[in-house]
Amino acid sequence: MKKALMIMAIGTMTLGMAGCGEEAKTDDFQWTVDRFDDIRVMRYRVPGFEELPLDQKLLVYYLSEAALSGRDILWDQNFRYNLAVRRTLEGIYRSWEGDRTGDEWKAFETYLKKIWFANGLHHHYSGDKFVPGFTEQYFDALLVGVPNEALPLDFTEGGSRRELIEIVKPVIFDPALYPLRANQAEGQDLLATSAMNYYEGVTQGEAEKFYADMAAANASDPTPISYGLNSKLVSRKPKFADPAFPGLRELVWKEGGMYGEAISQIVFWLHKAHEVAAGPQKDIISHLIDYYRSGDLRDFDAYNVAWVRDTLSHIDFVNGFIENYGDPLGIKASWESNVNFKDTEATRRTQIISDNAQWFEDNSPVAPEYRKKEVKGVSAKVITVAIIGGDCYPATPIGINLPNADWIRRDHGSKSVTIQNITDAYDAAAEGNGFREEFVLRAEDRERAKKYGSLAGNLHTDLHECLGHGSGQLAPGVTGQELRQYGSPLEESRADLFALYYIADPKLVELGLIPSLEVAWAEYANYMMNGLQTQLSRIEAGKSVEQAHMRNRQAVASWCYERGRAENVIEKVVEGGKTYIVVNDFERLRALIGELLGEIQRIKSEGDFEAGRDFIETYGVKVDPAMHAEVLERYGALNLAPYGGFINPRYELVRDTASGEITDVRVTYDESYTDQMLRYSRDYSFLPSKN
Ligand code: ZN
Repeated sequence: MKKALMIMAIGTMTLGMAGCGEEAKTDDFQWTVDRFDDIRVMRYRVPGFEELPLDQKLLVYYLSEAALSGRDILWDQNFRYNLAVRRTLEGIYRSWEGDRTGDEWKAFETYLKKIWFANGLHHHYSGDKFVPGFTEQYFDALLVGVPNEALPLDFTEGGSRRELIEIVKPVIFDPALYPLRANQAEGQDLLATSAMNYYEGVTQGEAEKFYADMAAANASDPTPISYGLNSKLVSRKPKFADPAFPGLRELVWKEGGMYGEAISQIVFWLHKAHEVAAGPQKDIISHLIDYYRSGDLRDFDAYNVAWVRDTLSHIDFVNGFIENYGDPLGIKASWESNVNFKDTEATRRTQIISDNAQWFEDNSPVAPEYRKKEVKGVSAKVITVAIIGGDCYPATPIGINLPNADWIRRDHGSKSVTIQNITDAYDAAAEGNGFREEFVLRAEDRERAKKYGSLAGNLHTDLHECLGHGSGQLAPGVTGQELRQYGSPLEESRADLFALYYIADPKLVELGLIPSLEVAWAEYANYMMNGLQTQLSRIEAGKSVEQAHMRNRQAVASWCYERGRAENVIEKVVEGGKTYIVVNDFERLRALIGELLGEIQRIKSEGDFEAGRDFIETYGVKVDPAMHAEVLERYGALNLAPYGGFINPRYELVRDTASGEITDVRVTYDESYTDQMLRYSRDYSFLPSKN
């Protein structure tokens, strides 16, 4: 199983514990562009783009087009009705000539905005299917005036409008149908109960056996491919029959294969990028094109090896089937992309960290046999993203560590990035939103957060990505797959604990990364408040914690709270009917973090499924209903959005009017959320509605 190596912004942290926001006050850049339901949509700036030489601007431009061309792949991966429903709703949105001001229209519009944000009918984070705030009768009325050309009739066998509506309506309105995108509840068939589109007609047991057999047949391979990463597994239908695997077959995502129409477009833009690329980047792009053409995961590994070795190119990008969060079995990867370039000044920070990676590993509180003897090729940098696409859009990670294949990380290292223009945008958009005043009790904690919150957040991401995920080693005979559905949250715990432990190390002061341990205490106070309390704002009343990063944060914070209870290390203070999380003893908390890091690394190194399950189930899943209700109420009163995401800037080629030659690439920031979504649906819809 691939490790899920990505960190999402902790909404409450980045929204609440913002930096001083000097920038936001001194110019009129519009950071927040839309606000609906539990979502805030922002925009980010791309400082430094204008200063790039033309060939690098063009490289960004072509790779950006490639990043947008795969959008519909993700939609279809998330749920096989997503494209049909989106296109139906957009058909209505574009052609409706009636009232656009009433409550029902607003409810329809909000529903569409939520679907755009989630790349489908299920919430991007919780995975719950959205409940429309308008009636079926209203939907019927909206449909009346929509011409057939505006509807995805290609979804039906006979191109029938009535058939399309009959299929789409229950999918939208029946809450019992496809309620969850990726179910993770122990004891149920995770495939039968999940709406995601990575498997069809296959039970969990069949799928697990299929890939276990594949891995077993290649057990002696020291450089195994990521089995099943880029395909849909189907069965029980005669048309899918494969003699090698009776009743089971992989439909590979490649040119000429499944999603081939969109992949051809990606390849087209990669060719353009190849023309302007220089140095090792030419070779990297060639490998990626080979992979998209063959669908062969050996080609993907060749690409990854070339990519991870290139630490010098100023421009960099991710484009492919990368992360496996969307598959309840953690085998299949969703399509994603981003294009970025190095923030040279801020990269000095991560450079210092990676230069000292071996010191951190050698001095960690982990049992010596589970420390990495030789930390290889941890390359870390701070980047500015220029475009986000697929599963990175609009909700985007603030740090990424790739590639995911264990053997490539072992033999060639990994690349780790912190995305600073995104965290800057979060901070600027959160300026003055009242979060800190509401949830942080002590003035000293508020001041520390204000002064050091931004630096602490960025450093945490650096340490999590560049050291945390890359640290540690497995015991002989352990494959890394033993932890199954608990693998992702446990992996995030490991990386978070490594970051939390070291952010409070005097070594960081010595290295000049922080002025004092006050930075660490800002991070501790924020992390515990978030894990024990404020992240609950993201969960609907009555639900438990599902998402891997959130399970991890609650588990870590709750474990520390319980473990330090006798000494009152972390305290739940109630004042004026409101609960506050207060850290009373930072030094002692660090010791607890070190202890837990040692245990979580042991669980991973030994593949101790029972201990891993107990940790996550005991501390990470269940929600205190009273605390939950209180958080939702206080959040609601401030009108804070628990989730954030970003629209992209727009890039356009500038041509000389006489010669037609490209002279520049212009970047603009004035598009609205709705305009961008409709434009993407118009210009980057390369897949049929049914795949
Ligand atoms: Zn992570």
